[in-house]
Amino acid sequence: MKKLFAVLGYPIGHSMSPIMLNDVLSYYEIDAHYHPFKVSPEELETAFRGLKAIGISGFNVTIPHKSAIIPFLDGIDDLALSIGAVNTVVNDNGKLIGYNTDGYGFIKGLEPYISSFSDKKVLVIGAGGAARAIYFTMAKMKPLALDITNRTVIKAKELIEACPFESNSKALSLDEAEVQLNEYDVVIQTTMIGMYPNISETPISLKNLNTHALVCDIVYNPLETQFLKDARQKGATVQNGVEMFVYQGALAFEKWTGIFPDVKRMRENVLRQLEA
Ligand code: NAP
Repeated sequence: MKKLFAVLGYPIGHSMSPIMLNDVLSYYEIDAHYHPFKVSPEELETAFRGLKAIGISGFNVTIPHKSAIIPFLDGIDDLALSIGAVNTVVNDNGKLIGYNTDGYGFIKGLEPYISSFSDKKVLVIGAGGAARAIYFTMAKMKPLALDITNRTVIKAKELIEACPFESNSKALSLDEAEVQLNEYDVVIQTTMIGMYPNISETPISLKNLNTHALVCDIVYNPLETQFLKDARQKGATVQNGVEMFVYQGALAFEKWTGIFPDVKRMRENVLRQLEA
């Protein structure tokens, strides 16, 4: 019988996951369909129960349901529980179990550049939901330093305190981060600053950026934010948000099917959608 996979969000029309994941389902000749469902916050529990009743094989959860879904799940893995957000649900013999592949997706996207974080000083810009997934997962990689800078510094402090994994971290104001930027080997921009239509904005100045740094922006619209343009101009290596998006999807696909898919194919598919 054809399997069903899905993504639940509100809104959901913009999601690139259905095209990306239906393509790899058919590429690996898996008899399944991945469908987007627009589910309002009020309807989330009913939708969840319905999907469970029909025996859905697995689904993704996106904004605004990543935390709200947790009370309905039959189980949740430790990392997703500590992050407090789930983006992937797997049907394990009738039990719907939640995972978070956002942080690992981001880190897997860095593999071409970084094999070990033990000698790397990392700066995360932002302390929202995406930063939390990246920071908690990155803490498990034990970097030499893992600092957070945020407009609201108290939120960065709270995020550091909430992390169950030991890390050498401090919370910085945006001004402090600008001044000591040359200390960092990896800089990760996780706010929506620079996203379309406000494409000329950047969260901090990169005047003091180390030229050997790897600079990532998890925004992918535009593909190259002003922040990445500035970093490239300083001679840094840059990476846009497409990698995180593709790898979080690839890791979800692997959890559902046991196959780690062709990420090059997925990336090309996403780039085609973004350029359309
Ligand atoms: P969020 O939870 O709302 O967090 C927003 C963050 O941005 C906070 O740190 C906030 O600082 C900061 N911020 C917002 N406006 C600001 C401003 N004007 N000046 C300075 N800081 C500002 O959002 P999120 O869910 O983490 O998402 C953030 C971005 O990541 C979005 O653009 C989203 O599309 C993108 N994203 C990409 C992927 C991917 O796969 N590539 C995955 C997830 C998210 P305060 O704490 O001071 O308010």
